[in-house]
Amino acid sequence: MNNKKLYITTTLPYVNAEPHIGHALEFVQADAISRYFKQKLGRDNVFFNVGTDEHGQKMLEHAKKEGLDVKDFVDKYSQRFKDYCKLFFVEYDSFYRTSNKEHHKAAQEFWKRCEENGDIYKKKYSGWYCVGCERFITEKELVDGKCPDHAKVPELKEEENYFFKLSKYKDSLLNWLDENPDVLKPKSKLQELKGIIADIEDISISRLRENLPWGIEVPNDPEQVLYVWFDALTNYVNVLGFGSDEKRLNEWWPGIQLFGPDNLRFQGCIWQGMLASIGLPHTQKLLEHGMILGPDGRKMAKTLGNVISPFDQEEKYGAEIVRFYLLTGIVTYGDSPYKEDDLVNMYNSRLANNFGNLLNRVIHLSNSREVEINDESKIEKDFKDKVDQYEGEIQKLYEDYEIALAGEKIDSLADWGNKYITEKEPWSKDMDKENVQNILNNLSYLLSIVIKYYIPIIPVSCEKAKEALEKKETIILFNKI
Ligand SMILES: [Zn+2]
Repeated sequence: MNNKKLYITTTLPYVNAEPHIGHALEFVQADAISRYFKQKLGRDNVFFNVGTDEHGQKMLEHAKKEGLDVKDFVDKYSQRFKDYCKLFFVEYDSFYRTSNKEHHKAAQEFWKRCEENGDIYKKKYSGWYCVGCERFITEKELVDGKCPDHAKVPELKEEENYFFKLSKYKDSLLNWLDENPDVLKPKSKLQELKGIIADIEDISISRLRENLPWGIEVPNDPEQVLYVWFDALTNYVNVLGFGSDEKRLNEWWPGIQLFGPDNLRFQGCIWQGMLASIGLPHTQKLLEHGMILGPDGRKMAKTLGNVISPFDQEEKYGAEIVRFYLLTGIVTYGDSPYKEDDLVNMYNSRLANNFGNLLNRVIHLSNSREVEINDESKIEKDFKDKVDQYEGEIQKLYEDYEIALAGEKIDSLADWGNKYITEKEPWSKDMDKENVQNILNNLSYLLSIVIKYYIPIIPVSCEKAKEALEKKETIILFNKI
């Protein structure tokens, strides 16, 4: 592991449907972490990957439904995810598509290395196959004979497939977690992951091509294709140069991976076994965000009428306010309801009344009293110490990937600034100019810190705030809603 470079990646969503609010959460969380570290380490020392997963039976079925050729279908939906990132100011360094030729080559190379290591074998198999999950489900996982994630009875299928010797890595994966209990956030999920690993069996990693024509060919066996998730998981290292540029790969890997609760098995267990097989280090940090629930606190479902549309929200409030709420109003780890009342209250109290208000007061007064601000050499020591203490706490939270808590701390700093100005009353007519200047100059420093650490959360507004402060231009950034 190296400290200079940081790699961060989201999971790649399937492109068979419209992006939902959960995708936005994962994208903006990863973007906030990426932006924080770009600021700290330099732009070139952070690499941020997002993308789309484009193979599998589901793609074929959905393309057919829309009357499209499968390639046109994935192009169309992949573009939608790209636009979606843009909408919420997600500034990725790579948008990875598993239908790309380079990906095919690298995924096959990954397979070959597992095979060379003796971890792939062929076997006749019959089992319960869930199309929704794109995999065989074990008897243990079935609930009332149905897939628990899709509430559908899976199909009984018999195939001769290739298997990956995941069970071979059971002990080493458990040891890895014992030695690195902090690798997974939130910590409360560690037991669940250990349980998953304790139960692992070898898994099927290919399908017959006749059943799945839209996939990557198994090396030296044209009758078989790679299982969609096996090919998709390899993207995390392929994008860094696996199979083509090992030097670059070693510079960036291992990194940080974000994913949702239904992905713990893949990210924390199967993918880690695959890494072990080809001799790469395990992921440096696994961050499992929660699920966004409906306003009623229940899982969103069309039948419950509690689905939040990210596009409606964006139209109503603007992308940055939605982003602000996703990052600071929705808890970073654990399930959390999406409540518009909370969004409005939080925006008004933290941005309009607190940060925005302080920014206006300082700029307005520095103009009306004709005093200079933004002079770091003149900040009073006690004041600077206090702000620096806040700064240290904010940094610590970001570096612990606690974005919502970092946002809360930034808000406390702005709040402290507002209390300071209220107590000092630099607007009082009998205060001499030097005093006024000291107070406002102190506050311009505080504001520069607030802006700096809000950048990962509300980048566009912060760009404007920064310029307004530097030029002392009166600006209403956050109108109350
Ligand atoms: Zn399923």
